[in-house]
Order: sequence, then structure tokens, then C-alpha cells
Amino acid sequence: MEKSLIWTEVDYETEGKQIGYLHLPHSVTRSAYGTIAMPIAVVKNGIGPTVLLMSGNHGDEFEGQVCLNKLIRSLDPADIEGRVIFLPMANFPAAMAGLRVSPLDGGNLNRSFPGSPDGGPTAQIAYYIDTTLAPLADYWIDLHSGGSSLDYIPFASVMVSGDDQLDTRALELLRAFGSPVSMVWAYFNEPRTATGSAHRHGLVYLATEAGGTGSLNPAGVQICDQGVIRTLSHVGVLKNTSKFPVVAAPEIRLTELAGRDYYVYAPDAGLFEWYCALGEEVKEGQVAGMLHFNDNPARAPMEVVFRHDGLFICKRHFARCERGDCLAHLATDYRGLS
Ligand SMILES: [Zn+2]
Repeated sequence: MEKSLIWTEVDYETEGKQIGYLHLPHSVTRSAYGTIAMPIAVVKNGIGPTVLLMSGNHGDEFEGQVCLNKLIRSLDPADIEGRVIFLPMANFPAAMAGLRVSPLDGGNLNRSFPGSPDGGPTAQIAYYIDTTLAPLADYWIDLHSGGSSLDYIPFASVMVSGDDQLDTRALELLRAFGSPVSMVWAYFNEPRTATGSAHRHGLVYLATEAGGTGSLNPAGVQICDQGVIRTLSHVGVLKNTSKFPVVAAPEIRLTELAGRDYYVYAPDAGLFEWYCALGEEVKEGQVAGMLHFNDNPARAPMEVVFRHDGLFICKRHFARCERGDCLAHLATDYRGLS
């Protein structure tokens, strides 16, 4: 296997706490021998599982980044048994720009796995995570939100891998994480995502959608804060529960994303006026909203409808849309592993 060009002064096998940088060689006019320095932290104490905590996979998703930076500062080796690896701004150039994708190469990190050692910065970051960090880990927590274009009722989720044992463990972790709304992506299977990488490595993987609109959803941050602590306790890594109290998980509404037709897409370009609110229980055939064509006042607006009953869990934030933009998706009550 070809070695990644990314190097770091952090040693993943050293006991104690290290906060440092991953250095991605990036030779440009203003810095011939420069590197892109991406924050990384490791807390290690003795023998135990390794949990990889990641945020900033998409750079305009902020709840997880705030959650992990708080924990990096407060978590000490004596608090744990095992190892926690933090990658809080995974696609660092995107996170610094507050963008979903990298301003350097347009790369969407979560569509770049397994990556490449000699591709652009985003492919190189994916390759490093896939070949260096994932093999060290037993569990991978990837804190997402809706980003600039989407708003979510905050939730945690797992994706069906097809490996029953792995999926059962992931479901247990999802219950332990304890987001009041939780979801199983029952059909989505995209090998270029971090999920795909995690499943290829046999890791238990959990993600969140902790809010969105490019803002910082306080309820989403709290779900991440409490969920990460519950997770570290559940897997046996967190020992100092007097310093990090494990708040009992609330009653969970377990939902699923059952298929493509639970999404609503814009049938044309226009301005979308919502007729319902995020969090509402909607009905099949219900009008989600009206698409207006302001560039042609003679043209009547177009109704866009939901094709199923469900919980309105995700909505497009921007009024302006192009044909093919995702306007919404629903969640329905979980029917069990199939
Ligand atoms: Zn994301």
C-alpha cells in the first residue's frame, strides 16, 4: 500500500494527551514548502478500545466541531482507558472556508473515500483517514449537520452495512448515543462516504445530523455533547464519570429513511414557499409547498407534494432552487433490520 504524504508529530501509540497537526504538503506561490496544518488530538491511557471522533467532514457543519473542540480541551488520559482520536476539522480547507466542499479542489470529503495518496488535497485527506486512522479505530463517530443548504431536526444515525453482526452493534451504539430522534438509513449505501470506509474496515460507525443552515443549533450541540459522552461510556473508554456525568438517554424515537421516494426534489427552478414546518407529521399527497416562477409572472406556481406519510425531518434552507435540488426528506418509524 502506498504511503500517505501527510505527516504528523503526533504519535498514536504514545500514552498521554497530544494536540498537534496533520501536515499535508501543499506547494503554492506564497509557500513553496508549505503544508496545510489540520488539527488532530489523541488521548491515550493503557489498553482499551479506540474511538475515532470526527467532525468537519463537511466544512459548513459546525455543531460537531464545537462539541469536539470542547472535549479535546477537557478530556485527560486519566479519564479514560483506551484511546480517543479527534479529527475535528476533517476537511480542514473546507472547514476554514465554512464550505461543504474544499475551496482548493472542489472536493467533497464524504464522497472521496477511499481516497488517493497522489490526488488533490481532499483525496489525500480521505486516503490518510482510510489507511492510517480507520485501521487504528474500533468505533468511528462522524458528527455532521445539514450544512448551508439543509436544516434538520437533530438526530443520530447508523447505516445498514449488510453485515448483521456489525449492524446489530451499530444499532446498540445508536441507542446508547441517545439522540431523542434517531435514524437508520435503511437503503443508502454509498461506498465513497466515511460510512463506506468504516464498513470496509469492519468498524461500528455512527453519524449525526445535528442541525444545519450554516448556523449552530444549540439543541444539536447538546445532543452531540451528551451522545459522545454516552458513547465513550458505552464502549468502555470513559471511566471518570464524576467529571463527565453520563446523562441517562431519553426515550428514543427510532426512525428510518426507507427509500428514494421519501425524498422530495424540485421539479423545476424557482422560489420554494413552504406550506409545512420542520418536525410536522405529514401525509401522503400533502402539499409540501409551492414553487414560484418569478421570472415569468404569467406562469402559475406549481404544487409539490409528499409521496408518503412521515416525519418532516429535513428541509432545504434556501428559497431559491434548481431542478433536481433536494427540498425535503421524511423519516418513518423503524421496521427492524431486514
Ligand atoms: Zn455532512
